[in-house]
Amino acid sequence: MNLIPLPAFQDNYLWLLQDGQRALVVDPGDADPLLAGLRQAAARLEAILVTHHHGDHTGGVQALREATGAVVYGPAREDIPAPFTPVSGGDTVRVLGLDWQVIDVPGHTAGHIAYYCADVDGAPLLFCGDTLFSGGCGRLFEGTPAQMLDSLERLAALPANTRVCCAHEYTLSNLRFAQAVEPGNDDLARHRAHCEALRAQGLPTLPSSIGLERTLNPFLRSRLPGVAHAVRASRDAQARDAVAVFAALRAWKNEFR
Ligand SMILES: [Zn+2]
Ligand SMILES: [Zn+2]
Repeated sequence: MNLIPLPAFQDNYLWLLQDGQRALVVDPGDADPLLAGLRQAAARLEAILVTHHHGDHTGGVQALREATGAVVYGPAREDIPAPFTPVSGGDTVRVLGLDWQVIDVPGHTAGHIAYYCADVDGAPLLFCGDTLFSGGCGRLFEGTPAQMLDSLERLAALPANTRVCCAHEYTLSNLRFAQAVEPGNDDLARHRAHCEALRAQGLPTLPSSIGLERTLNPFLRSRLPGVAHAVRASRDAQARDAVAVFAALRAWKNEFR
């Protein structure tokens, strides 16, 4: 298997997973880079997996389907370019001979889903769209903080060696914010230096892993006393329960420069 993040627009990655002569793509915001990628890989597109309805994730669906005849899977509760096979949490999609579990992860959008496979070349793989980013999480456009916290905790509970394929290269700005929240986190400082070196060479910081994100992503760590304390000290002294801390953390990030 060959896992390729194709850059698109400002900071999107269009993920292409190739198995010999066949491939799947995730969230094709633009068809052109993927058609070029498929040509280069000499692979036939078997399926398109869509995580949510935003244009930078669906803009190329129509053109890609017409050019390749690929099957499209997408969130049952969202409006994406038809025809597609609607799926939701608990469903399993079989693509490239692998079983992909659909996980409901509302928050960024109301019907956002993620795709998880327990074994791709010996380790799990997750396509999580705009829900979980390395060092951060998606903005809450349609969901509540309680929903997003629940969604992120569902992803955080996946095996530590799960490779995490996020849809945007937001890592450096996320890690800068994470260090403002947890200035004493050594794992975080080390990973930030590593990612800065990668970006200086024009390389992606992704995929991340669930294990790594648990050590440094403040949005997966909002129940820890240190993170909750930082939120109360810098942002909202009244934030007591986990949801209030998470909501204040997300609001803090929205304004962080
Ligand atoms: Zn989005
Ligand atoms: Zn996006």
